[in-house]
Amino acid sequence: MKFVDEFRDAGVIHKAADEIRRLADLGRQYRFMEVCGGHTHAIYRFGLKDILPPNIDLVHGPGCPVCVLPMGRIDDGLSIAKGPNVIFTAFGDMMRVPGREGSPLEHKARGMDVRIVYSPSDALKLAQKNPDKHVLFFAIGFETTAPSTALTLMRAKALGVTNFSVFCNHVTIIPGIRAILDSPDMRIDAFIGPGHVSTVIGCRPYEWVARNEGKPIVVSGFEPVDVLQAVVMLLRQLKAGEAKVENQYKRVVPWEGNRAALKAMAEVFELRSYFEWRGMGFISQSALRIRDTYKDWDAEHRFAVPGVRVTDPKAAQCGEVLKGVLKPVQCKLFGKECTPERPVGALMVSSEGSCAAYYNYEHRKHETLTRIGAAV
Ligand code: SF4
Repeated sequence: MKFVDEFRDAGVIHKAADEIRRLADLGRQYRFMEVCGGHTHAIYRFGLKDILPPNIDLVHGPGCPVCVLPMGRIDDGLSIAKGPNVIFTAFGDMMRVPGREGSPLEHKARGMDVRIVYSPSDALKLAQKNPDKHVLFFAIGFETTAPSTALTLMRAKALGVTNFSVFCNHVTIIPGIRAILDSPDMRIDAFIGPGHVSTVIGCRPYEWVARNEGKPIVVSGFEPVDVLQAVVMLLRQLKAGEAKVENQYKRVVPWEGNRAALKAMAEVFELRSYFEWRGMGFISQSALRIRDTYKDWDAEHRFAVPGVRVTDPKAAQCGEVLKGVLKPVQCKLFGKECTPERPVGALMVSSEGSCAAYYNYEHRKHETLTRIGAAV
C-alpha cells in the first residue's frame, strides 16, 4: 500500500537503526519526548523501543486530548445531558472515560441518550433529524479536530439549526509543550513533534522551542521508518550542536500549516485565559472557547454548567505519566486496579493513551511470553 509499505520496509528500518547506533554517543543518556500519543502507540506497536540503543529513552508526552481532559469537564458535559430531551454525542474515544459518576457509556446504561458520532457534522445532522431534541456535541481534541468543530458551527449558524450546541474542550498543543519545559522535574533533550496537529498548525509555531529553549524538534509521521528517521534527525542536530525545527513528515505536513483550517478556527474560537489539564493544573491560553458571535451554539452559554472540579484518585499517577515523569508501568495502579477493561484514568482507554499503548503491546506481550514459558 502506497505510503505505508515503504515506511515499514525491514531493510530501511535496519539501515535507520544502524545509523542511530552510529550517531548515538555511548557516553551520553538521551531523553526524547514524543509529544503525540499516536507516536507512543507506533513505538510500542512496532517494537521500536527494542531496536534503539539503551541510552536513548523515549518519554511519552501530553499529546492525547482525551487524556489531558480533567474528570470535572466530563461531569460538566454529562450534567447538561441530564436535562430533558438532550442527546449527548461524542467521539467513541470519550465513551469509556470515567467521570465521577461513571463514563458516558455507563450513563447510557442508566438511560441517558448517549450516541457515538464520527464527526461533529454527524451530530449536527442528528439535530436536524430530531428537531424536538437538543443535540449536544462534546468536543475534544487539539488543533487537529478543532477545525471540523469550527466548520460545523459555521454550518449550524448558516442553516439556522438552533437545537444544536457544542461543549468545547479543544486544547492547543504549544502551551502544553511549554508547561512540560517549565516543569522542574523534567529533563528533555529534544522532541519528536506531533504529526497530526502539525497538519493544521504547520511547523513554524515550534520555532520558539528551538530558539528559546535550545531543544531540537522534528515533526514526524507515524510509521516505523518515520519515527526512526526522526530520531536520526534529532541525533544529527545534537551531534552538530544545533537546535532547529525540521519536518520529517513533509508528505503530509505543510510548513505553514493549513490556512483554510486556521481561518475557520479563527472565525469561531478564541483563546481561554486558563484551562485545566489533567495532572498538569491550569495552563494559561491553552484552550479554545467559542466566540460570542457563535454563543447561541455554545453549550456553556446556553446551559448552566456546574464547573465541577474533581481530583483524581490519590493513587492514580496520570499527571506524572502525562508529563513524562513516570512510565505507565511505574503507576501504582497499572495493570492492577487500572486496566483497559476497568480504567481509572483516560490514559488507559484512549486510542492515544500511553497506558493503553503500554498495556496492549508490552504488558500483554510479557503476559503471553510468561504463559508460554510456563507451558514449556
Ligand atoms: S495506569 Fe491508570 S491511573 Fe495509572 S497513570 Fe495510567 S491511566 Fe492513570
